[in-house]
This record gives sequence, C-alpha cells and structure tokens, in this order.
Amino acid sequence: MELEIQLSSEENKKQRPKDEELVFGKFFTDHMFLMEFKDEKWGVPRIIPYQPFQMDPACCVFHYGQEIFEGMKAYRHPDNSIHLFRPFENAKRFNLSAERMSMAQINKDLFVKAIIELIRVDNLWVPSAPGTTLYIRPTMIASEVFLGVHPSLEYYFYVILSPVGPYFKGGFRPIKACIENELIRTAPGGTGEAKAGGNYAASLFAMNNAMNKDCSQVIWLDAIEKRYIEEATAMNIMFVINNEIFTPVADGTILKGITRKSVLELARVLGYKTNEVQIDVNDLVNHIEQGSCTEAFFVGTAAIITPIGSISYQEKEYTINDFQVGKITQRFYDELTGIQFGKIHDRFNWMVKII
Ligand SMILES: *Cc1c(COP(=O)(O)O)cnc(C)c1O
Repeated sequence: MELEIQLSSEENKKQRPKDEELVFGKFFTDHMFLMEFKDEKWGVPRIIPYQPFQMDPACCVFHYGQEIFEGMKAYRHPDNSIHLFRPFENAKRFNLSAERMSMAQINKDLFVKAIIELIRVDNLWVPSAPGTTLYIRPTMIASEVFLGVHPSLEYYFYVILSPVGPYFKGGFRPIKACIENELIRTAPGGTGEAKAGGNYAASLFAMNNAMNKDCSQVIWLDAIEKRYIEEATAMNIMFVINNEIFTPVADGTILKGITRKSVLELARVLGYKTNEVQIDVNDLVNHIEQGSCTEAFFVGTAAIITPIGSISYQEKEYTINDFQVGKITQRFYDELTGIQFGKIHDRFNWMVKII
C-alpha cells in the first residue's frame, strides 16, 4: 500500500498559531489524508493539501447520517520526538463502529500508517507548550449519491489534524455535571458503542438544558429504568468509593473508551481494586452524602481526566470532595499524562513513536 503524497505549495501554507493561542478544534494543519471507497474497494491512499470537499447534495451522509469518527492525540516529548497513544485500539474501534453502521472496513495497519505519515508531513504543527497536543480526527462518511435508505456503496475515509490547547477553558479543575433524568443517549441494541455522529447530534438538546443549569456535562442514565449511570456525552465516568475504583460496566450501551481501559489498567498496577459494575444512581448519591464516595472524574482522549466537583440529580446538587481535585484523580492524571508526554517511563508500552 504505497501512499501518494501531494505537498502543499509554500505560498498556500497557513500561518501556524502560537501555542498560547491554541483552543480545542479550531485550527487545522496544512495537509489531510484521503482515500475513497468505490466499486467494492478502497482506492489509492493519499496525503493532499487540506481542502474542502465538493460533494453532491444528495450524498447519503447528508440525509441519513451514515458517519463515524475517532479521536486521538499525538504528543511531543521533551526530546522533541512525537508519539501516538495506543493507535491500534482506535483502529480496532473504528472498524467496530463501521460494522455497526454498515460501512466499509479499513485495514488497521493502513489506518495507523495513514496517521503516522500525515503527522510526519505536518510534524511542525505538533505543539510543545505544556498541555498542548495534536488532536487527530479520522472520519468516514457515506458519499454515494442516492436518496434511498440503504448502506452507501461509496465512502470517504479521511484524517484531519488540529493542534489543540486544553479541552476545558479552565484546564485541569473540577466541573459541575448534571444527571439527565428524562432524555436518553442510547438504548440496548442501539448505537451507543459506536462512535457515530448521530449519537452526538441526539445529545445536544440535553446538553443545552444542562448548560442552562450551569452544568458543563450531562451524565446519562440507562434507557430502561433511568437508574444506572452510563457516561457523559463524549467521556466515560469513574468514581472512588471506599478507596476502590468504580466505573459502569461496558455492555453495549456505553462507548468503550481507550482512556477508560488505560486508567483501569493503571489503577490495578497502582494497587487499586477496580469494579466494572452497574452503578445505581440512588446508591451513588447516598455514597456521596455519607462520604464514602470521595472522588469522581470523567475520562476521555480530549480532556484525558476531568475531575467532577458536583453532581446534580433531581434538583439537588451533591458536592464531592469540597469541589477539590481528589488525590487519586490527581495521581491517575499525573501518571497517564506523564506517560503520554514522555515524562515518566511507559511501563505498558502504550506509546508509538512517529518521528
Ligand atoms: C470518544 C468517547 C469516549 C472516550 O473514549 P476515549 O477512547 O477514551 O477517547 C467516551 N464516551 C463517548 C460517548 C465517546 O464518544
């Protein structure tokens, strides 16, 4: 699989933002990866100058939302080298999402190679200020021109890169979360386990409601009993209860986060007992009130670890650890970001060197 590379001309290259100016997902690099699926096979994998698509308004993706994506990051280490975090996990999940949405499969090695080669081309865009990274967005869209409801026969697989600062403006500090008691994110048999665009579109309404209540995240409950904690809109959730780690079991309705998996592996090595179980919201608020739930945090690639300062449920706000970052939350954050940014030894062999 030879990659075709077409470089942007010098005069078409963009001005790179300074590291201090970086926010989440606003700036994009000079190049992108693109490969088209047609006649039952993938065409030539190409790196081309970053550019808009010209697409027929009747393309499937615009009507029925056949779209999937991934979210990953490249990290610059103190010796200036650049590394990916567990990229084959993303490749595997991308294919699971594709399968659920009846889309074309991608060779996992090609998925990772496309990203590595693209970042090599745009390596100057990988920022180096503390906490900054290069966010990577692999995406697949249904490009067949056809209005019937059926799996598209044609797809674009593309990758774009965005140098980013912290996901939350405040950086690593506790946020307020609200438990959504009426709307649901997904249901058993639904698409909750797939990183499919439609899941996020459907969640925005609840997010608006939460923001009106001064909450920056929604916590979803299970669809059937509205009783078991699931996750946030784009992050998994964990609790420290009696010094053990608890996270909702991933049995089809929640997205199996790679950060979630990594924090669980890390926790075990650090000597914490981990529990992947159903978490009843009533038990949880009791644990918070009685002081046995001492910490809560979200986990996901965009913000890595986000401490939760309070959780609102049925008009009542439950404060956790006096709205301070907990010791265990801090430890996981330090260990995980330490490995990612090359500041501590990668005992798990999670990082893949690009350059
Ligand atoms: C992407 C995502 C996560 C986090 O997954 P990571 O692999 O850790 O980035 C969690 N929940 C949802 C719904 C997501 O889309």
